[in-house]
Amino acid sequence: QGPPPVTRYDLNKVTVTADPVKNQEHILILTPMARFYQQYWDNLLRLSYPHELITLGFILPKTKEGNQATAALQQQIQKIQNHGAEKDRFKSIIILRQDFDPAVVSQDESERHKLGNQKARREVMAKARNSLLFTTLGPSTSWVLWLDADIVETPPTLIQDLASHDKPVIVANCYQKYYDPETKKMAERPYDFNSWQDSETALKMAEQMGPDDILLEGYAELATYRTLMAYMSNPGSPKDLAIPLDGVGSTALLVKADVHRDGAMFPAFSFYHLIESEGFAKMAKRLGWQPYGLPNYKVYHYNE
Ligand code: GDP
Ligand code: MN
Repeated sequence: QGPPPVTRYDLNKVTVTADPVKNQEHILILTPMARFYQQYWDNLLRLSYPHELITLGFILPKTKEGNQATAALQQQIQKIQNHGAEKDRFKSIIILRQDFDPAVVSQDESERHKLGNQKARREVMAKARNSLLFTTLGPSTSWVLWLDADIVETPPTLIQDLASHDKPVIVANCYQKYYDPETKKMAERPYDFNSWQDSETALKMAEQMGPDDILLEGYAELATYRTLMAYMSNPGSPKDLAIPLDGVGSTALLVKADVHRDGAMFPAFSFYHLIESEGFAKMAKRLGWQPYGLPNYKVYHYNE
């Protein structure tokens, strides 16, 4: 018996088109996961993109909570991959455990979002995303969907809808449903402020900063006057309206795999005074790939 045959992949034959179902394009769904939410999993199972074309990749921290989430995730995976209907099963599933410490910040929403905790937290998130990406991106991957573990509601056609725009990088608008005690009704509010168009003010602020400083979005202490996609949703304008962006969030973000193959990743350091997903948008843009966002196409974040 000779040596194993060399496997050849012709990347030119891996298509990336506006109709990925027709062209049988492989998609990698990547989720960094600190907590397991059943609603996230149920929503994932409802995605109508053919599951046999989907690979799932997860990365979880080695904390007590991360261990619990891993156990819950594995239980659900067993259920679907071993006992689920053929059409519900995914092509493959990869779980990674983080080999570096999580940010020493509690997972509570208010604590997570404190300005002073952001740099360390976003650095850890960037490293987690990069580890996950670089260990899972394969030669037949056409698309990468970044989907956070606390996205609990999306249209079932999420992948097809985002891909139909045929953009290198495209992000949905992430909202959160909540109970409004005044109207006694459910209402919704913007959640993710990382998708934005730059402003003169923000660029000037960045100019004054030290080389390692980062400019964050969504904090009154740092008034950037950027145009935030979170506030651009308008029921009167078309659902498929796409706008160019300079920063993106990664709660529900579709990326052509070639953008990552070109080297666009999530900087865990100040890159043009941006970090993680916002730094990724900048890096994609510097590589010639313009990011876009869909202000009227909503996905929903868990409400703690
Ligand atoms: P926020 O919604 O902006 O407050 O950010 P999250 O805390 O929800 O983090 C974004 C995503 O990363 C979610 O899917 C989290 O479950 C996940 N996550 C948060 N912290 C960690 C961590 O330390 N390690 C890993 N692997 N994932 C994390
Ligand atoms: Mn979140």
